[in-house]
Amino acid sequence: MSTDFPRLIMGVWRIGEWGLNPSEVARLIEGCLELGLDTFDLADIYHDYRCEAMFGAALRTSPALKSRIRLISKCGIALVSSNRPDHRVTHYNTSHGHILASVEHSLAALGVEQLDLLLIHRPDPLMDADEVAGAFGELQCSGKVAAFGVSNFLPHQFDLLQSRLDSPLVANQLEVSLLHTEALWDGSLDQAQRLRVMPQAWSPLGGGRLARESRDSALGQALATLGRELNATPEQLAIAWLLRHPAGIHPVLGSGKLERIRLLVEAQHIALDRQQWFGLLEAATGQEVP
Ligand code: NAP
Repeated sequence: MSTDFPRLIMGVWRIGEWGLNPSEVARLIEGCLELGLDTFDLADIYHDYRCEAMFGAALRTSPALKSRIRLISKCGIALVSSNRPDHRVTHYNTSHGHILASVEHSLAALGVEQLDLLLIHRPDPLMDADEVAGAFGELQCSGKVAAFGVSNFLPHQFDLLQSRLDSPLVANQLEVSLLHTEALWDGSLDQAQRLRVMPQAWSPLGGGRLARESRDSALGQALATLGRELNATPEQLAIAWLLRHPAGIHPVLGSGKLERIRLLVEAQHIALDRQQWFGLLEAATGQEVP
């Protein structure tokens, strides 16, 4: 299975907020496919450990979708939840046993035989990189996972895990947006560009804050002004701003509304020049670059 994912990935974290039944989720998946979005980002923990089963229920209503989509899932966070009664404290778990058990769970919940990409969800201070490498090796040999990556890893954490692996990590899913710009400066995107690793941007619209809170802010005004010039919505500009970065960022979209997703897909046609890009950064951070 190719990890040459489309530039925009569809996030499924908020599936519980969408208020859709399985057939409606299947229709949303079909709509995304028509827009060229074939890659769906999930995690074991999303929606209190129920997201993958909900997505799987949609696939069971339209089994033909399975061969047309690519699935990303994550493991490594252990939440206190009635669905995991043995968790006494929220913690990270990148042990061999936890990774394998989590993938088995994901495959069963989704009703598929392979994940296209598995991410370690967050850096774990107790991560034993040799142990993770062993788990990845077994999952690759058994065909249960095609490729591996990480999420929220700083470059040194990425390097540690990579140093024990035979195959390259293919992705680092980071929080990066106009409302969260640290990854521009902390080395994460430089590393992704250097190693040609796919950076994925979670919460590309700040989890909805861009639409909800920023209208009257300096950023909101800058987006409105540029939007009039380029005939684009603020959300489209926020996506175009990510796409302009030379590391090749893949925004992970969070909306459950096809009409909004369609608008964001159109953002791929907006080419921001350097001054437009820096103008939005300045408005977002409240300061000129030095
Ligand atoms: P987002 O795109 O920043 O936010 C989506 C939210 O914005 C939705 O609730 C959406 O509501 C709302 N929204 C409001 N107005 C909108 C508009 N005009 N256009 C589009 N959306 C609008 O993304 P996110 O959901 O926070 O995160 C995206 C994905 O990133 C998640 O699904 C998950 O796969 C991934 N993620 C990963 C991590 C990690 O640690 N790796 C952490 C968080 C998220 P509507 O549904 O009503 O449009």
